[in-house]
Amino acid sequence: MTGTCLCGGIRIEITGKVGPVVYCHCSRCQKASGTAFAANADVRRKYWTMVAGADLVREFESSPGVMRAFCSRCGSPIYSTRVANPDIVRVRLGLLDADPERRSLAHFWVGNKAPWFAITDDLPQFRLGTDEHADEILDMTRVAMARRTS
Ligand SMILES: [Zn+2]
Ligand SMILES: [Zn+2]
Repeated sequence: MTGTCLCGGIRIEITGKVGPVVYCHCSRCQKASGTAFAANADVRRKYWTMVAGADLVREFESSPGVMRAFCSRCGSPIYSTRVANPDIVRVRLGLLDADPERRSLAHFWVGNKAPWFAITDDLPQFRLGTDEHADEILDMTRVAMARRTS
C-alpha cells in the first residue's frame, strides 16, 4: 500500500497490515493536524519504506523523545516516532492512498478533546494516551481479530 503527502513529493510504501488504528485527541495532535484529532496506526519499521522525498521530510520534537515528521513543502503530517520504541513508525492515515482495512478501536486523550468537536460514535473513550492504555489496546485488538476470523 502506498501513501503520499499533499504535494506528492513524499511517497511511502507499507507492506503487510498496519497495526490498530486509533484516534488521538491530544492537544499536540490537534495543533499538528490543524483539526480535532489525528487518525494514526502503528507500522513496524521493517514494513515501512520511504520510496521518495526523504529530503523533504522534516522532524519536530513535539515532546521529549517524540518526533513528528512532516513534508517541508506542503506541510502534510507523515508519521511520528518515539525514541523509546524505534521499531514503530506511527503513520498518519490521511496519507494512505488505499483502504488500510482497519477501523479505529478507540478514542484517546479524550480529556484533551477540542470543546468544539463532539464524539458521536460508540467506540471506547480513554482519558489518556496509547502508552498509558497499552493493555486495553492489546485486549481490543484481540477482540477485533477474533471477530474477524469467526
Ligand atoms: Zn508534500
Ligand atoms: Zn496525539
